[in-house]
Amino acid sequence: MISEKLAAIKDKLPENVTLIAVSKTYLASDLQLAYIAGQRHFGENKVQEITEKQAVLAKDIQWHFIGHLQSNKVKYIAPFISLIHSVDSIKLLQEINKQAIKNGRILDCLLQFHIASEETKFGLSLEEAKELLESEAFLFLENIRIIGVMGMASFTEDQEKVRAEFKQLYQIFQFLKSTYFSENSTFKEISMGMSGDFEIAVEEGSTLVRVGSSIFGLR
Ligand SMILES: *Cc1c(COP(=O)(O)O)cnc(C)c1O
Repeated sequence: MISEKLAAIKDKLPENVTLIAVSKTYLASDLQLAYIAGQRHFGENKVQEITEKQAVLAKDIQWHFIGHLQSNKVKYIAPFISLIHSVDSIKLLQEINKQAIKNGRILDCLLQFHIASEETKFGLSLEEAKELLESEAFLFLENIRIIGVMGMASFTEDQEKVRAEFKQLYQIFQFLKSTYFSENSTFKEISMGMSGDFEIAVEEGSTLVRVGSSIFGLR
C-alpha cells in the first residue's frame, strides 16, 4: 500500500530531509492516495503530465520539476511550480526569469550537475556552472532564486561508485556556497537520491530525495 511504503521511507529519513514522491507515469488517483497519507511534495519530469495533474489535485501540493525542461514549455509550469531541479543553461534560466516576472513570482531553481559516468544524463560541469554564475546575464535574473544543486548518480550496483558521485555533488555544493552564495542563507538544498540509492545520498548530505518506484510500485 502506498501509505505504508511512504511511512517506511519516511522512517529512514532524518527530519531535515524532504521526501519528494516522484509520481511520473502514475495516475492522479495514486497521487491522491499519497496525498491522503500526508504527502505534499510531488516530482514529475514531463510538462504536460505535471500540468494535467496539478489541475486536478489539491492546491496545497508542492510540485517539483525534475526532468529535462525545454525553454518553450516553461510558461506552462511557471504559474504553480515550487522548485525546478533541472536548470542546466543560462538560456533556460532567462526564460524561467521571464515567466516568473509574468506570473509575479520568484522561482526557486537548482543547478543540475552531471555527476554520473553515463553519457546520457543531463547537467552542468563545474566549469560550466562557474561560467553561468559569473556571466553578466545572470546578474539580471531578478526573479530567480538559486537554492542549491541536483544530480543523479550512475545506474549501477556499485555502491561505492554511487557514494563517490554523491560526495562529488556535495563538494560542488560546498564550493558554490562558499564562492557565490556565502551571504545567501537560502542556498542550502542538495537534491540527490532515488529509490535505489537514497540512503547513501542521505549519508552524503542530501536534503531532498526523489523517490518514485519504492512508493508507487514498478512503472
Ligand atoms: C524517475 C526519477 C526519479 C525516481 O526514480 P525511482 O527509481 O523511481 O525512485 C528521481 N529523479 C529523477 C530525475 C527521475 O527522473
